[in-house]
Amino acid sequence: MYDPKSSKAEDFINDEEIRATLAYAEENKNNLALIDEILEKARPIREGNTCRCQGLTHREALVLLCCEEPSRIERMYEIAEEIKLAFYGNRIVIFAPLYLSNYCVNGCLYCPYHLKNKHIPRKKLTQEEVKAEVIALQDMGHKRLAIEAGEDPVNNPIEYILECIDTIYSVHHKNGEIRRVNVNIAATTVENYKKLKDAGIGTYILFQETYHKESYERLHPTGPKHNYAYHTEAMDRAMEGGIDDVGLGVLFGLELYKYELAGLLMHAEHLEAVFGVGPHTISVPRVKKADDIDPDVFDNGIDDETFTKIVACIRLAVPYTGMIVSTRETEAVRQRLLQVGISQVSGGSRTSVGGYTTKERPHDTEQFDVSDQRSLDEVTGWLMDNGHIPSFCTACYRAGRTGDRFMQLCKTGQIQNCCHPNALMTLAEYLEDYASPETKAKGYAMITEELEKIPKEEVKKIAADNIEAIRTSNRRDFRF
Ligand code: SAM
Repeated sequence: MYDPKSSKAEDFINDEEIRATLAYAEENKNNLALIDEILEKARPIREGNTCRCQGLTHREALVLLCCEEPSRIERMYEIAEEIKLAFYGNRIVIFAPLYLSNYCVNGCLYCPYHLKNKHIPRKKLTQEEVKAEVIALQDMGHKRLAIEAGEDPVNNPIEYILECIDTIYSVHHKNGEIRRVNVNIAATTVENYKKLKDAGIGTYILFQETYHKESYERLHPTGPKHNYAYHTEAMDRAMEGGIDDVGLGVLFGLELYKYELAGLLMHAEHLEAVFGVGPHTISVPRVKKADDIDPDVFDNGIDDETFTKIVACIRLAVPYTGMIVSTRETEAVRQRLLQVGISQVSGGSRTSVGGYTTKERPHDTEQFDVSDQRSLDEVTGWLMDNGHIPSFCTACYRAGRTGDRFMQLCKTGQIQNCCHPNALMTLAEYLEDYASPETKAKGYAMITEELEKIPKEEVKKIAADNIEAIRTSNRRDFRF
């Protein structure tokens, strides 16, 4: 039976409820009065200096997803952009993935790291290699990483992951440092989540891949990941272990996208109902070509327009959740998605184990083909050309603004009093230490313009003074 408060996967991601939702959405996809009502509900409402949004239920979001009326779809995109600007401003947070190990005991049909793939070289970074990769990432300008590893209790036990996190935080090369490590590893126990929390991780990310139980079991035929309930209930265990920033995601292309969106939003509703805080982020990966993986064998691929609509619907449904798009997508797709709600992008990514220390992009241990192969400097320059501030900020979680505390600040619009100047100060660090002359010129022009938008004179002055200190000295890591 559907129960968002239940701790059982099959109750909070309830197949019957998803099917009823899809039927309801199909019935109402031409009901313009209802669609207009839902769009009205999704709009951000300004109250003095603050702004709030109600979000949408999974049923409401699905009606929008099924709607094919062009003017309403356009309106949906406009509202998605309004929400993004209201809560995240024109800032885009930047990160990079760091692949630690491709040893894996699972049999995921879409992933080249699956156990039966015998021609892919298996590699696990030593601590010296982790250090070298981190130096390479710091030299690009990164401050925030998402570590990635296959599931293998012998080769990549939790102790190995914890050791890598320690190593990553300990490297300080020139003015570089990694200030936030997000973790994307397989579902694990409450005890292990506690250990990750104690190691100082940012977000724990785990993609559901698909919410459709039967497909899930077929796509994960062997290995611990086969267990649908254990995987689906992982975020509950992570929260129990004290991690209050969790990142959800669906691997689009495996199952019908309407089913997936309903499941994803029900998962968010479940976390909100049980823990009082929804997901910190939602990622929207699409299946890509990889070593022995042909994405065309999965017959649920979605075109770019449908993909844009999905992202906009998520933005309307969970307005306070960050949304991430990776370099799986092309520059053109990323540019479009940035207009409908994306708040984080990766840049300069390599998806192979040891990829950042090799001159040429290595393909032998790559997890999937990277579509956007531009350097971080090119990505930051491109973001600014499109009016977005590239932000290397990691302040919230370091100041204890996580989970419901982050959401509370975000909901009351307060987050903007610190995020905007923090974005500008971390951008200045990037410009001073790593940017090309062209990007640097663009960046400082943007900073000058954006400083003027800080409403509080006192904050504006502190931010300007700190930026001057960054420009003229080696002082770094200022934050509100
Ligand atoms: N091993 C961990 C797990 O099982 O959750 C997480 C790490 S895995 C390196 C990160 C994600 O990459 C997976 O959750 C999956 O969604 C995605 N992925 C795997 N194969 C892919 C492919 N061919 N194209 C795009 N993304 C893929």
